[in-house]
Amino acid sequence: MLPIVYHPIYSDFPLPEGHRYPLQKYRLLREHIANERWPVAEHQPTKLPNNRLHAIHDQDYVNALVTGTLPLVKMRRIGFPWSEVLLTRSLTSLGGTLLTVDNALKHGMAVHLTGGYHHAHHDFGSGFCLFNDLILAADHALSHEGIDKVLIIDCDVHHGDGTAVLAQTNPAIATFSVHCEKNFPSRKPDSDLDLPLPIGTDTEQYLLHFLPCLSLAIAQHQPDMVIYDAGVDIHRDDELGYLNVCQEGIAKRDRAVLRTCHDLQIPVAAVIGGGYRTDQQALVPLHAELILAALDTYYPNWSPLP
Ligand SMILES: [Zn+2]
Repeated sequence: MLPIVYHPIYSDFPLPEGHRYPLQKYRLLREHIANERWPVAEHQPTKLPNNRLHAIHDQDYVNALVTGTLPLVKMRRIGFPWSEVLLTRSLTSLGGTLLTVDNALKHGMAVHLTGGYHHAHHDFGSGFCLFNDLILAADHALSHEGIDKVLIIDCDVHHGDGTAVLAQTNPAIATFSVHCEKNFPSRKPDSDLDLPLPIGTDTEQYLLHFLPCLSLAIAQHQPDMVIYDAGVDIHRDDELGYLNVCQEGIAKRDRAVLRTCHDLQIPVAAVIGGGYRTDQQALVPLHAELILAALDTYYPNWSPLP
């Protein structure tokens, strides 16, 4: 059974009518997995304790978010109205990415049905990201015996700016970001490896450039663990991405990452990352490619549950 990490709160926090954030996609994806009877074992995370955030985040920033006293202008940069439930949801999803790491270390691979808050920096959040789960998860992985190097592979269409900066001070965390060169955020600090792609890059071009960079990043950093952000906002119909990749391209990308890590026996903790459509149901088959890729790669004889 493929370990997946999920909590109902992922799709249940207050947002104003018409907000961009695809709140329902997490629930819809979980329902799809259940309806298809895919063989998964669900693990439910608990809130990460506030004090764990101090490892990578500024104490004043954390306290302001916890107490709801972050100035409005800084909340606007994050893009959510503050609420107690928002905070609980954020801390629960951080706990979820760490739980995904634990399951990946135990079973080789695990998927988190949210996560990928790569725009969260040391002392500010932005782009729907309060705290950086990818760096916290890498830090957590490094506390395990035998894990001395973690590679974060960020395939979300947006550059992983917060992740890049936070990893710069820790030589045990390497970062690889493949993204659209003319998209949010405008300032893109250096990852260890960056692959900026022009607006309109199609499936063939995407894979042509991505696959050798994937091999390069792994050969260069020889990670003991990979954290994979499988954002589907590279899809041609995405409302916040400007690439032109089809669903089959997303499937090939996910399968290339998982196959490479599987064959090298590098455990993978994957998060589903970004994906933005007004019709949130249309995101489900795109994110589901990651689950199918994981099942086919790690459980090649799998079949749907009776
Ligand atoms: Zn994104």
